[in-house]
Amino acid sequence: MVAVVTRDEWGAAFAIPTDRHVPLSARRAFVVHWPGGNVGADEAAVVRSIERQHRQTQGWLSAPGYNFLVGQSGAIFEGCGRDVRGVHSPPRNVDGFGVCVLAPITTPASPAALASTRDLYDDLSRVCGRELVRTWHAADFATACPGPQLIEWVRGGMDAGAIAPARRKVGNMICQDPVSGGYWIAWPDGAVHTARGAPFLGGANNDKANPGRFPCIGIAPRPEADGGGYVLALDFTAAKEGDRARFYDYPRDGSHRG
Ligand SMILES: [Zn+2]
Repeated sequence: MVAVVTRDEWGAAFAIPTDRHVPLSARRAFVVHWPGGNVGADEAAVVRSIERQHRQTQGWLSAPGYNFLVGQSGAIFEGCGRDVRGVHSPPRNVDGFGVCVLAPITTPASPAALASTRDLYDDLSRVCGRELVRTWHAADFATACPGPQLIEWVRGGMDAGAIAPARRKVGNMICQDPVSGGYWIAWPDGAVHTARGAPFLGGANNDKANPGRFPCIGIAPRPEADGGGYVLALDFTAAKEGDRARFYDYPRDGSHRG
């Protein structure tokens, strides 16, 4: 069994009534969620706050309503517990394990969080004696949860550590060329398309500075408004200056040089 931070260990404040037991034989699905907002860095504190919100604000007897929660560190937290009827998606509270990946809404789930979520899935499938259906909250309910990146990850088979980087759109993908008045549109694969007269200056998908074909995550005009621009791509290890466009380091921590 994967290591789980138990309710005692993270400091659950409320007991869960014993009449909410669900046998493993009833489980069919593994339902992925997100917190739907920003979360702090102290993962245990986040879990405690979700417990309070679900119990005190929502009045739910299973709190947290998720069976498990997975932090960006990869730590797996016991939510209401494996054998308890959760409160996370009405059609799935009995036959599904609700698992909340605690990625802030503006940040992709970390490789560690994805690897742990996959490990948890494999473990629960094993103890249930069946391959659980991999699904997500919005598949059963009108909600954005768990967001486009996690939905794509689950839909793609939930490979450990693999949200396709091309899905990590964190920048503006269109910007105006201040010289021509036209537009550059950056695609996630690093290609740049032009519209309404903006010149083509190169993309990030086949440039020598980008031998790994790292995906483009944003595009922006230079603040000097001199017609140049920036194309930002993940995991650049070398910065290169083109004649009218620059490529910058853009590591996963969100900072970038330049
Ligand atoms: Zn949800």
